[in-house]
Amino acid sequence: MSETLLEVQHLKKYFPIQKGLWNKTHGHVKAVDDISFSVHKGETFGLVGESGCGKSTTGRALLRLIEPSEGKVFFEGKEITGLSAEGMRKQRRDMQIVFQDPYSSLDPRHSVQRILEEPLIVHGVTSRKERQQRIERLVEVVGLSRSHLHRYPHQFSGGQRQRIGIARALALQPKLIVADEPVSALDVSIQSQVINLLQDLQSEFGLTYIFIAHDLSVVKHICDRVAVMYLGRIVEIADKEKLYADPQHPYTQALLSAVPEPDPDVKPKRIILQGEVPSPANAPIGCAFNTRCPKVMDVCRTDRPPLRDTGEGHSTACHLYTGAAEVV
Ligand code: SF4
Repeated sequence: MSETLLEVQHLKKYFPIQKGLWNKTHGHVKAVDDISFSVHKGETFGLVGESGCGKSTTGRALLRLIEPSEGKVFFEGKEITGLSAEGMRKQRRDMQIVFQDPYSSLDPRHSVQRILEEPLIVHGVTSRKERQQRIERLVEVVGLSRSHLHRYPHQFSGGQRQRIGIARALALQPKLIVADEPVSALDVSIQSQVINLLQDLQSEFGLTYIFIAHDLSVVKHICDRVAVMYLGRIVEIADKEKLYADPQHPYTQALLSAVPEPDPDVKPKRIILQGEVPSPANAPIGCAFNTRCPKVMDVCRTDRPPLRDTGEGHSTACHLYTGAAEVV
């Protein structure tokens, strides 16, 4: 078994719903609702699901860009959820993020030089010469040139801006990068260039990725293991090959049935889910998927199914697999 880089235990992120003159709390949006998983060194771990399932909130909460409501996150065996602001600032050298939108994630008033230099200054790279060397190396590894350093974000295409975002994430030589929908705002023709760049950088620098996406074709291409999220919960985790060949959870089966089939001789068996995704402010009791599941049983409306180990690193949260042992 490969070494664990990151471990997430029972992570929750609830946002209060406040109303009235006194902002009284009337409930909570359970964006992330008690999830646990671990990420191995050097792998690309996918977090997938429909929009609003909590995957981006998970990425931000585990980096503590937003504070988790409950749960623990361990990085290289050290708990980071209890770190002070200063301790977390130091920890962020190793844990960076690439944001979805290359248009809004870069400050339009700053040149590329300044965007890349800022994290180096903040994290104490005091030698100007060393900073310049690192910046020139960064633009080179992401496929830009030194002549781009004095330009501003609006002077670049979407793909180039995402390369700048990746260069900024790499500036402090992190071990883990959370890539939050890094290609979904880009044209299809540019998406593959950015994906290939991420893969090349992973081989060159031994990076570990958490790759957040809703596009299952992209996830299939880049990820080693995949966790499927629905309404703030993880419903299935497996190696990519196992998940795509043998999806166990009815929600994963429906998601994968919607992926276009490249072979024209294979007739896709599309599973159409009924109804809308419920609000995370009012998730169903029991299994969160019970209002849309074609295999729903009585127990699904009362008992929340735990994640169970169904063998060979495959885990599923569904009452159809009650014989399997619970994942702690
Ligand atoms: Fe469907 Fe029940 Fe399984 Fe939930 S627990 S996915 S409702 S069969």
